[in-house]
Amino acid sequence: MIVPATMRAWVLDGPNELHLVEKPVPVPKRAEVLVRIDAVAICATDLEIIEMGTPALIEGGPPFHKNFTPGHEYMGTVAALGPGVDEYRVGERVTVEIHAGCGQCKRCRQGMYTSCHNYGLNYGNVDKGHRANGFTTDGGFAEYAINNINTLSQVPDDMSDEEATLVVTAGTSMYGLTEVGGLVAGESVVVTGPGPIGLLAVAVAKALGASPVILSGTRDARLDIGRKLGADRVVNINKESLVSVVKEMTGRGADYVIECAGTETAINEAAQMTNRGGKICLAAFPHEPVLADIGALVKNNIYVYGIRGEGKSATRRAMALMAAKRFDATLIHTHTFPLAELRTALDYARNRTDDAIKVVVKMHGSEMRSRKESTR
Ligand SMILES: [Zn+2]
Ligand SMILES: [Zn+2]
Repeated sequence: MIVPATMRAWVLDGPNELHLVEKPVPVPKRAEVLVRIDAVAICATDLEIIEMGTPALIEGGPPFHKNFTPGHEYMGTVAALGPGVDEYRVGERVTVEIHAGCGQCKRCRQGMYTSCHNYGLNYGNVDKGHRANGFTTDGGFAEYAINNINTLSQVPDDMSDEEATLVVTAGTSMYGLTEVGGLVAGESVVVTGPGPIGLLAVAVAKALGASPVILSGTRDARLDIGRKLGADRVVNINKESLVSVVKEMTGRGADYVIECAGTETAINEAAQMTNRGGKICLAAFPHEPVLADIGALVKNNIYVYGIRGEGKSATRRAMALMAAKRFDATLIHTHTFPLAELRTALDYARNRTDDAIKVVVKMHGSEMRSRKESTR
């Protein structure tokens, strides 16, 4: 594969100021490969970074005016290998997860590399080896990116580029279910909030045998997708009481609640509908402090977990389920745009234009802007 010297890449100048520029194609080092990006999905966190800067952290500060390329949910083709890499070969299709931990801190040694204690320490005279592409290092709104081999998963031949970009989202859902114990077969799981992570949490929980799986939200169109992904019951909280439905269906309440709405109400309802000794995973969070009924948690021995990203190789486990076609992640992919139209693609994701859920940007081929037929 011929690798050019320069590439097209979007860089972030001021807040909400993205420009398409020519950048040198980066060179992979030890344990790294160069990925030719074929497709990249847009995440709510990308929108946050582009507007507010956080949670990106470039050279120890905000990501503005640092020639930084955001984007973190991408897939592509291995284009070059760093010294000593024999785990992958040029031409292989791969999808990526975000975090390559430093590999030397206490958390990385525990497999918790998304909570690396050397997060973002990769500049100046300090380089701990930590990388979080699209957060602390260049990401995927470009033609090429560098990835540590630990962040790659092989993409099966019969999986589309678009579907492969969704693996990191499914991996985040998988990580939530991992952290609460993972053994959800035959257990009741409630997922609150039908965003991409919530919808794929339904799919992953169902694929792992959870029963019943209940999904709550306010948008019927999204709840319908949740049903297709395996929810046994969906609850539109504008029309029904989620806590009552859960109590009715489960008797004592849910064994697990995966909270993906990030609102004060959802967090308190999670406490009310989890059974004694059950577990809550907070996969979303409010941006302001909230009032929470801690008493209900303590009196009922309810465990609460916060998760960060897609740790403990959850992405590879999610890929295993997707490769085996245990659920159709493409149900959440709604729109496709070419790289040059990234700004429009971001607008669609931000404003949920035309019921957009996952908007994907494709680098090559003749794809023009399109809405996916199957969800029309
Ligand atoms: Zn994301
Ligand atoms: Zn670390």
